[in-house]
Amino acid sequence: MVERRRLVAGNWKMNGRKAGGVALARDLAERCTSAEALPAEVVVCPPATLIWPVAEAVAGSPLLVGGQDCHAAETGAFTGSVAAAMLAEAGCQYVIVGHSERRRDHGETNADVAAKGRAAVAAGMAPIVCIGESADERDRGEAVAVVCAQLTASLDGLLDRKPTSIRPVVAYEPIWAIGTGRSATPGEIAEMHARIRAHLAVLGGDAQAMRILYGGSVNAGNAAEILALSDVDGALVGGASLKSGDFWCIVTAIS
Ligand code: PEP
Repeated sequence: MVERRRLVAGNWKMNGRKAGGVALARDLAERCTSAEALPAEVVVCPPATLIWPVAEAVAGSPLLVGGQDCHAAETGAFTGSVAAAMLAEAGCQYVIVGHSERRRDHGETNADVAAKGRAAVAAGMAPIVCIGESADERDRGEAVAVVCAQLTASLDGLLDRKPTSIRPVVAYEPIWAIGTGRSATPGEIAEMHARIRAHLAVLGGDAQAMRILYGGSVNAGNAAEILALSDVDGALVGGASLKSGDFWCIVTAIS
């Protein structure tokens, strides 16, 4: 049985300026450093301009840094985009790809997401691949089918079993639960995570070794119950990652 190290990642989205972002990251890095036993890998994903100063501020601490998106290409005429290798050079070990806000606002397809994930791995970072159904899809009883189809296409080329390869992380984020204050219920989360793990095995992934995070209105109050579910290997946290105390409560909710 492979031990899956828990992972709690904070997605700051388009929030924060240099002074506040660095202070938040420093505070978390100190909490991670002084924790007797850190129950999870802890990652912050600041906006692109803050990655470099945040990574410098927390260097040498257990706090890790991630990007919120990367381009699939190595270089080129892609105004406004950031390549995976640029993120890695700035100090990122992880990068979120396929967040529903990117899929919605930038028309990203599953194929785009898979290409970004492959670029991340090529640059030495683990992609956190986001998937999740809309409220309408859930109401129509299509949630599992939609999520499995997203998994299949968004992980294309990412499930190489070579021991040296970097394993992608999956983040199940039902769109209707993101930023709404309405988390999925423990029953809904448990069912979907079990389905995702079963589907990863069908796809030929090392399903027992892969981490599946839940995201969608995780907060200090509901984290313990969600993180205790057997196929939940951690959380991707938006709003509650912007306050050190709240985010830390989520990390320490892992029993
Ligand atoms: C997210 O944006 O990935 C997210 C889970 O946001 P929130 O925690 O605010 O719902």
